[in-house]
Amino acid sequence: MSLSPARLDRFARHIVLPEIGGAGQVALSRRHVVVMGLGGIGSPALQYLAASGIGRFTLVDDDTVDVSNLQRQTIFTQRDTGHGKATSARRWLANFDDTLSVEISDARVTKDNAGGIVAGADLVLDGTDNFATRLAVSDACVAASVPLLSAAVGRFQGQVGAFAGHLADQPCYRCFVGDAFDAEDCDTCAEDGMLGAMAGWTGSFAAMQAVRVLLEGVSAFGRPQWGRLHLLDGMAPGMRTLNIAKDPACKGCAST
Ligand SMILES: [Zn+2]
Repeated sequence: MSLSPARLDRFARHIVLPEIGGAGQVALSRRHVVVMGLGGIGSPALQYLAASGIGRFTLVDDDTVDVSNLQRQTIFTQRDTGHGKATSARRWLANFDDTLSVEISDARVTKDNAGGIVAGADLVLDGTDNFATRLAVSDACVAASVPLLSAAVGRFQGQVGAFAGHLADQPCYRCFVGDAFDAEDCDTCAEDGMLGAMAGWTGSFAAMQAVRVLLEGVSAFGRPQWGRLHLLDGMAPGMRTLNIAKDPACKGCAST
């Protein structure tokens, strides 16, 4: 399959990069990404993921747009307040590039429905705001052999990690955080605050790492960096990287 002249024009700055190239751009057009959470992470991430020409999206959020979201959730405008985030995000995507395919879900993600949402995707980008959801998404990704990019942000700190816990030698998100948070709602954003641009940095960095995952085996940029967690510090500013080990007793990804 090749790209149409209009698509070649649109993605010319990607195609000219040897590390992506025409083969990489065609591959992106065939990929399916599930964006879990359309808030501070999901909004800027979706802008760059859509701009990169990924062909198919599932957009998941059960919340509605509040005026306090507009400080960092960049796909929403004043007109969206009071409307569903998933519906508003679909409208943004349709205006931005009407050739991309999109499905939405505005149901709360739980361990019972997460498997159905992630099944068949090439990547899940999780920017949800509580551990119970994040762990349910991680377990569903391991069970369905779908890679997971997990991203979080608060105050002046962000983190982005790539997980492939379905692989025998790679950790999952649960290996990183453990089991303690399964039942706990840890949404602290409202109390702690967050610099708007910090969400933008973390979300756009997550989008860049997503492209790495999606191009694995296709072009030179495709190096997923499984098990590496990048910490973004907005105060310094600077970045650090940690390697996460697979927990042999992990209840999400251990084989026995
Ligand atoms: Zn694990």
